[in-house]
Amino acid sequence: MGKTFIISNRLPVKIERKKNKLVVTRSEGGLATGLGSFYREDGSWWLGWPGIIPKNTEEEEFIRRELHSLNLIPVFLTQEDIKGYYEGFSNAVLWPLCHYRPSFVDFNEAYWNSYLNVSNKFAEEALKHLDSDTNIWIHDYQLMVLPELLRKQDQSFTIGYFHHIPFPPEELFKMLPWRNQLLKGLLGADLIGFHTFEDTQNFLNSCSNNLRMEAHYNNLKCNGRRIFVEAFPMGIDYEKFKNAALSPQVIQKAQEVKEYYRNQKIILSVDRLDYSKGIIERLRSLERLLTSHPEMIGKIVLYMLIVPSRDQVSAYKKLRNDIDQLVGNINAVYGRPGWSPVAYFYQSIPSEELSALYVAADVCLVNSIRDGMNLVAKEYIASKQIDKRGVLLLSEFTGASKELTDAVLINPHDSIKVSASLYHALNMPAKEQKERIQACQHIVEKFHVYHWVKLFMEKLQETKHLQRKEL
Ligand code: UDP
Repeated sequence: MGKTFIISNRLPVKIERKKNKLVVTRSEGGLATGLGSFYREDGSWWLGWPGIIPKNTEEEEFIRRELHSLNLIPVFLTQEDIKGYYEGFSNAVLWPLCHYRPSFVDFNEAYWNSYLNVSNKFAEEALKHLDSDTNIWIHDYQLMVLPELLRKQDQSFTIGYFHHIPFPPEELFKMLPWRNQLLKGLLGADLIGFHTFEDTQNFLNSCSNNLRMEAHYNNLKCNGRRIFVEAFPMGIDYEKFKNAALSPQVIQKAQEVKEYYRNQKIILSVDRLDYSKGIIERLRSLERLLTSHPEMIGKIVLYMLIVPSRDQVSAYKKLRNDIDQLVGNINAVYGRPGWSPVAYFYQSIPSEELSALYVAADVCLVNSIRDGMNLVAKEYIASKQIDKRGVLLLSEFTGASKELTDAVLINPHDSIKVSASLYHALNMPAKEQKERIQACQHIVEKFHVYHWVKLFMEKLQETKHLQRKEL
């Protein structure tokens, strides 16, 4: 297939200062696992921000060398870049808009200028390493204009782009003063991937209404070059979660959790701190359940794990305060000596502990208001190996709900129905639990993350092949 050059905002590494020394470790998130088999091959590279600002040129050189040995190339960002490009344009403009929350958007010209500036930094660094037979795969909304910046340098480049978050309807996207630049930026790619069919349609509608470009099914022509726009729902490393769930350490930890919450059914939720995750709505639904079914008092617990995220952005700070307050209120009103309805943890935990929670939980409640995919839903399903018991409550507004149609689908805005679905889930017969879990497992096992990478790369090759034939 040739060499691959991956570009994403963050490199898959963690760099920490320990006793005045820098320590570089690989971080294996879903994307890094899926792409790992590629970028470690000879001649394949991954370019992105290493997540740290070096104190001096010696540190910068040290990081460069360490990363080089891992086939990674750093793009260094300044504090100003992080404020404008990352916290600003990426997370206070694109993120809320793509998650259907226009009222959270800060239409700030300075953010846009910083976004362009950083995109140019990425392009400049990438161009030092690219040649025309490399397959370039750009990831996510932080780099929407990069495809075009690279295309301008070499028309023959093979460029794929994947958008990991939702793409909003045309009526929302056109609110952005920079909408045309962003669309044209993406159209520098040969293949543009989204998680769902809906996202592809939203993108194509935006192209047709703003740029007057007509799509034919899933493709359109840009300066004579045919571009494909397709849905590639991302999967997880199924075997990894399956094996973890079957390992003695995880089974032991899961038993400890169950023992701690004995006589209580565990409702689990796991997400980053984000307004797109429906955390407040979830707490309201729990409140409603406790009010409408007081017999549940003392019998259930919402184990709510929230991973700290973007706490420098004001909307996130406010959300955190709102959650603290509501959890405190629910526990104060409904709690009893020795029992609290919500066990709330604001931290990230090791993967073994996460697997143990998935194994132990009777119900997993994913009630995002909008979510590109939601991997937690798939990880929970993959972890239900031993007795295949457990119920996934899944928001209709996640990408995952398009695939996991045997989960109990919920509308997070409808707290009456969510609380009824919760009640139903907590009382679901074992046979139904097993049937639903098995049906979902079938999908998650088949469409794993390696399959996702393979499909995308094959389609990219096919697109290039077709373009050459059309010349
Ligand atoms: N996760 C993690 N540490 C934790 C809890 C969760 O790394 O302490 C992971 C989890 O396994 C999942 C990811 O965070 O892979 C969350 O992905 P998801 O698609 O659900 O939401 P996102 O954060 O990408 O919006």
